Amino acid sequence: MSGRTRLVPLGTNGYFPSGGRQTMSFLLERDGALLLLDAGTGVARLGEPPVAARLARAARLDVVLTHYHVDHVVGLAYLPGVARHCTVTIHAPAPPLVEGAPEALGRLLAPPFFPHPLGEWPMPTEVVPYSGSALEIGPFRLRARAQRHPGGSVGLRVDDALAYVTDTSVDPETELFVAGVDLLLHEAWLTNEEAEREDAARSGHSAVGPVADLARRAGVGRLALVHHRPGRDGVALAALRAEAELRSGLPVLPLVEGEAVDVG
Ligand SMILES: [Zn+2]
Ligand SMILES: [Zn+2]
Repeated sequence: MSGRTRLVPLGTNGYFPSGGRQTMSFLLERDGALLLLDAGTGVARLGEPPVAARLARAARLDVVLTHYHVDHVVGLAYLPGVARHCTVTIHAPAPPLVEGAPEALGRLLAPPFFPHPLGEWPMPTEVVPYSGSALEIGPFRLRARAQRHPGGSVGLRVDDALAYVTDTSVDPETELFVAGVDLLLHEAWLTNEEAEREDAARSGHSAVGPVADLARRAGVGRLALVHHRPGRDGVALAALRAEAELRSGLPVLPLVEGEAVDVG
């Protein structure tokens, strides 16, 4: 049995009244172990209180990436600033899960994009490829599956506590993958109206209605919508949540960046 897990949304592509929008990153904490899901600009919040205090106590930090689009990896550049006291391991997806390769990180985190090459960071840092369906990182047992997204992306399930399903069109096979988790984090890039006007499947993104249906059928405990399209304000996001709640019959959490949620 796994212990209590705490989720701190750091970057949700959502609306954040006082601090601006940050791109995708979520911190999981269990028994003092820390795991980041994705590393968008939300990683910067690791340097802000009260999240900074959690990181100050840690000797190591694991990061698992879902794919290589910049809104999921650009925040790796903050790690030499906020996690220089940690041993850092970056778990990076490899084919057949995605088309991109872990070596790509070395090209992004190097001049001219970044002054400090990945191999010369002030703390021990390792990039470890993963390509299978199971992954064990400290106390976290993860399952991984390939999703429908340009270039590929990986859906992640962490024990029975939570599933993180972003950068994908709605996929019926996700239902079995996430079945029974306490909290499903699922992307909702599109409104239903936008999905009717645009080709949702080709965009590699999901519309809120089908996401709500999926969550209900999968029997998850709670749903949270993440990875919103730029331009949504607080009112628009509240409307999306209300619609998802009505259609799924589930509690739909309003995630606030930096505010912890207990899961599992
Ligand atoms: Zn994305
Ligand atoms: Zn993407």
